[in-house]
Amino acid sequence: MLDKNELATLLPGVDVKIPSEGDDVTKYISRWSNTRLSLPAAIITPVTETDIISTIHFTSARKEENLKVIPTGGGHGTFVPIDSRTLYLDLRNFKSIHLDEDAETVTFGGGVVSGEVLKYLGERGWYTSVPNSNAVGMVGYVLGGGSSPFNAVKGLAIDNLIMMRVITAGGVVVKVGPESVGEEADLFRALCGAGFGFGVVVQVTLKTWRVENLGMQEDKVWTRKLIFPPTAIRTAAGTFVKIQKPDDRMVVVLLLMRAPPSAPRPGAPMIMLNASFFGPVTDAEEAAVALFDESITSQAIVADTGAVSVSSMNDFSAPLDRHGDFKEFYSAWSPGLSAETIVTAFDRWLAFGDATPEAKAASFMVFAAKGTKAMLEHDPESQKFFPRPLRSRNVFVQAVPWWTAEKAEDSSRTWAAETMALVNAPQHDRLVEGNGLADRDRLTAHAANLSKGIDLSTTWATSQLKEIRRIKGIWDAGNLFWNPIVDGV
Ligand SMILES: Cc1cc2nc3c(=O)[nH]c(=O)nc-3n(C[C@H](O)[C@H](O)[C@H](O)COP(=O)(O)OP(=O)(O)OC[C@H]3O[C@@H](n4cnc5c(N)ncnc54)[C@H](O)[C@@H]3O)c2cc1C
Repeated sequence: MLDKNELATLLPGVDVKIPSEGDDVTKYISRWSNTRLSLPAAIITPVTETDIISTIHFTSARKEENLKVIPTGGGHGTFVPIDSRTLYLDLRNFKSIHLDEDAETVTFGGGVVSGEVLKYLGERGWYTSVPNSNAVGMVGYVLGGGSSPFNAVKGLAIDNLIMMRVITAGGVVVKVGPESVGEEADLFRALCGAGFGFGVVVQVTLKTWRVENLGMQEDKVWTRKLIFPPTAIRTAAGTFVKIQKPDDRMVVVLLLMRAPPSAPRPGAPMIMLNASFFGPVTDAEEAAVALFDESITSQAIVADTGAVSVSSMNDFSAPLDRHGDFKEFYSAWSPGLSAETIVTAFDRWLAFGDATPEAKAASFMVFAAKGTKAMLEHDPESQKFFPRPLRSRNVFVQAVPWWTAEKAEDSSRTWAAETMALVNAPQHDRLVEGNGLADRDRLTAHAANLSKGIDLSTTWATSQLKEIRRIKGIWDAGNLFWNPIVDGV
């Protein structure tokens, strides 16, 4: 066990916790999901960069204990193993945010979460690439690639990354960006899509854009929401499929979830079809014309048109940000789906809930359709570690098993894996047959959505896995930081 006094002397003024055997881990650490969560060796909440450097030197000097430093931001990574070898580095004190209007950039600290950046910028009339939840750590998001509603018009977060300030395993501070050369350029590339476990990122600069240039009415995002009963799944699926290659300014989401406890019929399956448009209302109405078709809206329980400020655009997903329970993400980027596949996925989701009471209330599925224009414009040479083939695929599918008791773990994972096989039918069949599947066909997920036991060759091509290991060897030869490729998921 680590010596608290030694750490306290080393890190004056820093909150250091060393749990005792048998303690409840959730008293010390709150994470989005309790999967892979057990008592760490210590939880350290540094205040300065010097505290981080001291922690790194302390850990490196105790090689025989094989400790892993895990810097954390929003605590949303379900794939990160927290256990007795973990030095949990909580970056909550690194909260600065600064907009530079002249440079059109925003710079934020390593512990900032997405809602903080979104609101800070939104209040000043600006926006940047952010995830669809307010509670995700911005650094964790960027390191995984960073897929946002702005993919089609601006590209991924890593396509708009100007600078990362990183404290390396050697305890040295480096600033890397697109202009870096040599080994620093390698490090920067790794941070673009395969970035977990290369150092502690204390500061990030991303490009920003003026909201007014989107041409939205009153600077608000136009929205159209239809909610269908389960009996209308064919209509909902067919409508989604019709607009699954949307205007670049539109994002269409089909959400399968159950009504919350506060609803008139708690637990009832709900099918929500939602379009958000980042542009003028007239263009929005044209792009989303299918969502006004009387033969479709007549089957919906709710059909609403609205507008929401950029700052508040993620507020709708707040119920999904709740910490605790057990949750995982299984995702696949698809060129497009048939209505039949969506209906089958819906039926299987219902059957899974009925057979697994511990996962019935909260497990959900998302089908999100976006354009691909700016995605394809960036990284044509595939230098970064976001899988190039995914940039041309319009539909992002996600199955999220959310269970309340450990005994539902296996059935939850089985449902999610089978759902991924369903939406990836061609790839899946070939994988099962064991035929030499080309990397291009195998790649279906990006790093932000890793999950326990995931086949990493679905996220990075064989040559990329080798390259990531090589870069890791340069910057963290002693393997101080947990990394999914070197340490496994
Ligand atoms: C509700 C929800 C919605 C999401 N929406 C999206 C989305 O729209 N688009 C998308 O691309 N992804 C999305 N994600 C996935 C998310 O981007 C990744 O899970 C991300 O890694 C989470 O980062 P975190 O800081 O919250 O998690 P953590 O568990 O704290 O960290 C995750 C990983 O990032 C590393 N890390 C975090 N901060 C630092 C740092 N400062 N320095 C070095 N390493 C660090 C950790 O070491 C760990 O390996 C979503 C996840 C959830 C749960």
